[in-house]
Amino acid sequence: MKPSIDQEEIQICSRCIYDERVSAIEFDEDGVCNYCKQIDSLSGEYATGQPEGERELLRIFDKIKRSGKGKKYDCAIGVSGGTDSSYMLYLAKKHGLRPLAVHYDNTWNTSVATQNIRKVLSALDIDLYTHVVDNKEADDLFRSFFLAGVAEIEASTDLALAETIYRAAWKHGIKYVLEGHSFVTEGITPVGRNYFDGRYVKAIHRKFGRMPMRSYPLMTFGRFLWWSVFARIRKIRPFWYLSYNKEEAREFLEKKFDWKYYGGHHLENRMTAFLHGIYAPKKFGMDFRNNALSALVRLGKMPREEAWVSYNQPPAVERDLVEYFRKRLGLSKEKYDEVMSATPKSWTEYPTYKKRFELLRPLFAVLAKANLVPMSFYLKYCFPTKA
Ligand SMILES: [Zn+2]
Repeated sequence: MKPSIDQEEIQICSRCIYDERVSAIEFDEDGVCNYCKQIDSLSGEYATGQPEGERELLRIFDKIKRSGKGKKYDCAIGVSGGTDSSYMLYLAKKHGLRPLAVHYDNTWNTSVATQNIRKVLSALDIDLYTHVVDNKEADDLFRSFFLAGVAEIEASTDLALAETIYRAAWKHGIKYVLEGHSFVTEGITPVGRNYFDGRYVKAIHRKFGRMPMRSYPLMTFGRFLWWSVFARIRKIRPFWYLSYNKEEAREFLEKKFDWKYYGGHHLENRMTAFLHGIYAPKKFGMDFRNNALSALVRLGKMPREEAWVSYNQPPAVERDLVEYFRKRLGLSKEKYDEVMSATPKSWTEYPTYKKRFELLRPLFAVLAKANLVPMSFYLKYCFPTKA
């Protein structure tokens, strides 16, 4: 039997379930981790769930409405079919905003995600802008990251969604992007093995890819600056101001839109499921479930002990997922096993814009204050990474 959380040999935060294996973690004299403290400090700064926080968000919504006068849409919202982005659409409509939904289809979606998106959009009467990448090209990118031996196998998706949202916003003269991120329910995940930028994607693809990038929307450094400094498209994270509860949001979506929960198995997208259920835990000893579980513990919605027990159960995985992954990417069983057992590589071993982000920290501090880049980008990317 597993020892109880307070008898474990590794150090675990006394408030959440982050343990010493989490990158760049530090504990204070009471055993509280730096990530818990970061959340406390952001909650104070954004008055999260307080009347001032809600008033500030309403003020921002008013600005968004004014910026969209005479236009078809006043904001863009990236959608995946998941809880946060689906609820974000509802919230925007409820406050009288006129959102355009934006989707980057990496061609690994399951039908649950596709149907969720369709159900919510049609009930709320919201238009959808989709960028579909050529599926062979998407697979070539995924395969490149896998062969590179780095953890960020979904970097190409995360970056492409950001670029697609900017393109959609630009096309329709939209000045605001609403993002369904909540530091309360997800934390600011450490940059440890969770890095992405345009140079990184390009460098890995150049080294391991087999076909040119044509339909993939690459966000280069120049484009990133252009979108934020010149196009001045602002990014707002409404859940940073509100008391947002993921479980309640999920129940609400199920009742209101016949939306389906994809379970903890990430059945909304097979690449996400592979990353969370197989790739990260097996090759990197990383398990992202500690983010959501720690959030529940911090909010007092789950006992710490129970979260720890649940965290230590093996993640649930769809049957035949490895088979599907291998076949689609054209990897032999031998090649797959070889990569899975090889020593993990880090993003620091490949070219990235990280140094440039650090050098331009003063600029990004100003941009983050003006919501022209996300505050979490500034906090994560513009400071040297602790070893
Ligand atoms: Zn903690």
